[in-house]
Formats: sequence, structure tokens, C-alpha cells
Amino acid sequence: MFGTNGIRGIPGKDLTLEFVTEMAQSIGSYFSGTQPILIGRDVRNSSPALSKAVLAGVLSSGSNAEEAEIAPTPAHQFAVRTLGYGGGIIVTASHNPSQYNGMKVLGKDGVEISRENEREIELIYHEKKYKKADWKSIGRCGKETRVVENYIKGIMSQVDAGKINESKPTVVMDIGNGAQAVAAPYLGERLGCKIITINGQADGNFPGRGPEPTPANLNDLCEAVKVYHAAFGVAYDGDGDRSLFCDENGEIYWGDRTGSLLVDFLLEKHRGGPVVTTVSTSQLVGIIAEKHNAKVIWTTVGAVDVSRAMVNSQAPLGLEENGGFFYGPHIPVRDGAMTTALILEALASRKMSFSKAIGSLPMFFQKKAKYECPNEKKSAVMKYLEAKNKEGKIDRTDGLKIWLDDHTWILLRPSGTEPLIRVYAESDDQEKLDSTYETFQLLVKEAIAS
Ligand code: MG
Repeated sequence: MFGTNGIRGIPGKDLTLEFVTEMAQSIGSYFSGTQPILIGRDVRNSSPALSKAVLAGVLSSGSNAEEAEIAPTPAHQFAVRTLGYGGGIIVTASHNPSQYNGMKVLGKDGVEISRENEREIELIYHEKKYKKADWKSIGRCGKETRVVENYIKGIMSQVDAGKINESKPTVVMDIGNGAQAVAAPYLGERLGCKIITINGQADGNFPGRGPEPTPANLNDLCEAVKVYHAAFGVAYDGDGDRSLFCDENGEIYWGDRTGSLLVDFLLEKHRGGPVVTTVSTSQLVGIIAEKHNAKVIWTTVGAVDVSRAMVNSQAPLGLEENGGFFYGPHIPVRDGAMTTALILEALASRKMSFSKAIGSLPMFFQKKAKYECPNEKKSAVMKYLEAKNKEGKIDRTDGLKIWLDDHTWILLRPSGTEPLIRVYAESDDQEKLDSTYETFQLLVKEAIAS
């Protein structure tokens, strides 16, 4: 039931109120502590109804709960970690289209619970072993109104606000009608920036550019950055945990490139790391870490996998190629507003333009693609691909990662959330990248058709 990022579905279809309530009752039973559970939500049209169903479920398990207003996912997570909660449930479907919604379960530390704990909850649900409180033991309910302010203050305490304030940069934020509408622009203003927002109204229909920022749908952001002579632009996903950046010329970068810029800056402060990232991330991270004598821990793809590896290894830094950056001293989860503040600090201390700071990193060429593949066919497709690729250095951390030479690799993996096979390729040589990609995309198509 739990995918790469919690439970996802379409309300009224697979995510019915009955299912959500019963699942929340199972989650409430799993926690069963004395501290209340925080129930948060994003901007989706179905989120108010679903969060009430979650509330009903948790309270009927006998656990206490507090309801929060709309806030970015990382703000809810930080609230659980710092405001005395025993755990949390966030009603959100992150970057998925507006018809979707979902539930994300947080441990006491604000980080998504582990896969084992997810299975524990699934077992309680399937065997209907959840607690059914009677009228005397039913949970108590309250309101939590401090989430956004607590989040902004927490982020401000992690950066050199004075230094950012001195440089007073102009920043364009593409909120994507998502949950950062209530936090990131206010954080930017309090750090002394001039903030210009586009798609700045929280709206569950995501009428602007949709809830998922990709280099292909950020034209307005790039144009606005040039028109306003901004230092950079940033775009957030629907629940505000991911961020993609463009430089002062409107050039967009994937998360592993901006993430590597931050790793390079932050390893001066957090000597030795380690840095946690997924196997789909650019080798650039490895090169930057090596320069600082820091170790990289490569994980399976998924924000939870990065977060949990960070907790286990006490790593200060984590990143994903899709625009997730994790700053452990704040909270080891991906966080769009925290990342923005760190970029502001990095540029202010280096007294450099965004393009110059990014341009100083070694260059790699990348390609990413996705191919439709029914869920039930995924394992056969992967077996087919594996049988065809037995030579060379192979990394099976997640899917099949094949190193063709010291600086060229291709990764083939089934998506954990959608009926897709994802392909990632990287090389230090554009021609080599193109030919590698060409060969493997034919092979993937052949595997899906077979
Ligand atoms: Mg998200």
C-alpha cells in the first residue's frame, strides 16, 4: 500500500473515506503513545475532507491528535520534530496531478517511517488489529497553529541571515500554486530579499504550470528572472519539498547540479560529510565529495531512502536529482524553502553570481526518459534487460546501473509509484551519451514489447 512516498490514490476511487479512516486508525494504533499525532495537509481540493477522515481514524484508535492548517510538507515534518509530537500524518500527493491525494506517515523525528514500520501498519490494517476506543478512551483533538512560523524561524536559525540581508538579492519564486505559498515568500522577505512570485496562490487545481516543476514547464520563471534582473529563480513542487533553480540568465539546472553546488559549499562547514544520495544522481556529487575527503552513501531511489540513510549515518547532507535537498542540522528531509535559504547563503558568502558558481563545477551531460510499462510487466522487463547486460561494472543498488567507462553510466529502473520504466544516463562526453542512450532506449522498448 505504501509506495516510494507513502500511500497515493484518487479520492472517491481507491482512496475512499472508509479506507483512509481505517488506515488512519491502524496508524494511530501503531503509534499508541501519549504524545499527540500531528495531522497536516497540502492545498489539494480533497485534502480538507481526507484530513478529517484521518483525524476521525486516529482519534478512534485512542490516540490524541492536533490538526494543522495548510503548510509545506517539510514544515509539518519540522513541527513534528520540534513541537512535541509522537508522530504525524500528512495528507498530500506531492507533485502528482490534482485528482490524486495520499498519506505520508512521520515518526517522532519528523522523518517518514521506515519500510519495516510501513509493513507493520499494513499488517495491523489487513488483520484489522487496530484499536477501537470506547467513549471513555477516545482521543482528544486540538488545533496546531504554529507550523509555518516555527518552520520559518527554524530555517532562519540555520543560515547567516545577516550576510544574505547585506546582499539583498531579488529572487523569483514559482510557487506552482502549491503549499510553499504560505511560507517561502515570507521567509525570503525576512531574509532581506526582494521576492517576486508567480503562480503564487495556493490552488488545488494547480492552474499555473501544474504541481510538478520540470525544466520543460518553467519558461515563465526563466522569463521573469530576466525581466526583473533577479539573482536566480526557484520553482517548488505541490507540497513544497522539492525545488528546481534557474540562474540569473534563466538557465535551469537539475537538482544534482544545484545540490552539488550546495554540497561543495556546506562540506566546508560539515567536514567529512557523509553525503547521502541515490544511484540516479550525477557522479558530480562523488567528485565534489572526494575533493573534500568526504564519503558518499549511494541509496535506492526515494526520498525516504535518503532520509533514513541520513539518520542511520548521521549525515548532514543529502540530495536527489529531481530537486530534493536534505539539510540534516535542520531536519533530514527534503525541503524547498531550506534549500532556497542555503542557496542564498552560498551565493552571498561566495559573492558570486549563480551561473558563475554553477559554472565552476565539472560538466557532465545527462539524459532522462520514461517508458510506459504496466506494473505487472515490470519484473519481466527488468529480467530481460539484466539478461542482455552481463558485462562491465554493474551496480544493483536499485534497478540496473551499468558503468560503460569511468565516467559513463546508464540506469534502468522500474518506477515505484507509476507504471513506468525510467532511464537515466550520464557521461562526460556528449557524443558518448547520445550513442549510449540510443542503444539502451531501443533495448528498453524491445523489452517492454517482448
Ligand atoms: Mg513533493
